[in-house]
Amino acid sequence: MSRVFNFSAGPAALPTAVLEKAQKEMVDYRGAGVSVMEMSHRSKEFKSIFDETGNRLRKLMAVPDNYEALFLQGGASSQFGMVPLNLIGLTGKADYVNTGAWSKKAIAEANRYGKVNVVASSEDQTFTYIPELSASMFDPEASYVHITTNNTIYGTVFPKLPEVGNIPLVADMSSDILSKPYDVGKFGIIYAGAQKNIGPAGLTIVIIQKDLLGHALDITPKMFNYQTHADAGSMFNTPPCFAIYMAGLVFEWLEERGGVEAMEEINRRKAKKLYDYIDQSEMFDAPVKGNDRSIMNVPFVTGDEQLDARFIEEAAVAGFKTLKGHRSVGGMRASIYNAMPEEGVDALVRFMEQFEKANS
Ligand SMILES: *Cc1c(COP(=O)(O)O)cnc(C)c1O
Repeated sequence: MSRVFNFSAGPAALPTAVLEKAQKEMVDYRGAGVSVMEMSHRSKEFKSIFDETGNRLRKLMAVPDNYEALFLQGGASSQFGMVPLNLIGLTGKADYVNTGAWSKKAIAEANRYGKVNVVASSEDQTFTYIPELSASMFDPEASYVHITTNNTIYGTVFPKLPEVGNIPLVADMSSDILSKPYDVGKFGIIYAGAQKNIGPAGLTIVIIQKDLLGHALDITPKMFNYQTHADAGSMFNTPPCFAIYMAGLVFEWLEERGGVEAMEEINRRKAKKLYDYIDQSEMFDAPVKGNDRSIMNVPFVTGDEQLDARFIEEAAVAGFKTLKGHRSVGGMRASIYNAMPEEGVDALVRFMEQFEKANS
């Protein structure tokens, strides 16, 4: 068996130890005689997997008791519609911050259900920064304020959360959930597709303050109403059982490594090594500067498309896979989520050094 260093933005690398454990339990889950994929979601075996996974998530993120943690399907993209369907009816309007392609998709969906006010945008500089935000920019009557905490494509992150007063803050946290501590109590809703920093695609996590349940627009399909899933303990219909099981294994792995605080330290160190190399390099440049730099997604360029293409090709041969930047921005992007070992970043930096020497 040989595993490459996989820098994919998503679905992204999973810890090898987690995959091996799943492999061991694949055919006969702990003596049940069946795989987790073949179990009733109402069986006592699955109930115990489900409860344990939920408890681990709540503990890792220190989710307060007045929040529900829901295990849904549909990806973060479904949440672009579910959030306004469930919340925009509070006042009929909502504030959004536009920091990239995913924010734009969220805005487009919200526009179908109410009045959307885009309070700030970084589109003028191809989303290479996070706009300055102050409390006075938000409409006190907005039903909620929506942000994308980490912008997967452009490699930016909110260096601090905006001051929104009493307006519920809603965050698409798909690409930095569990990468560092977030104070869940500061949010109305946190949502994330699992396939970046949690587990396999197919699972979507929604953490919602209980007060925000029960305000859905009348047109909301039952499956798109958070209340439905809160009432049924995420078992209104068949949940993504196997993905939930895998997420549970990842949560256990995170606990063994010291939890989210410990991950933040490792993640910051990994990102710093890469940015430090890029910043002193004569060949590579990172378009995002300063505190807005993501520690999860690191875009970089040489400024020469042909050289970028050669770098990506030679890197792949050397065992550094999926370094191509998003099709909308080009260049390279190294996604270094929790599961990317520090050795992977060290090895990538050494490879970049060699490439720079050989091509200058
Ligand atoms: C990947 C991603 C999405 C889209 O997620 P799906 O689960 O594919 O719908 C949305 N927002 C962010 C920030 C992402 O990184």
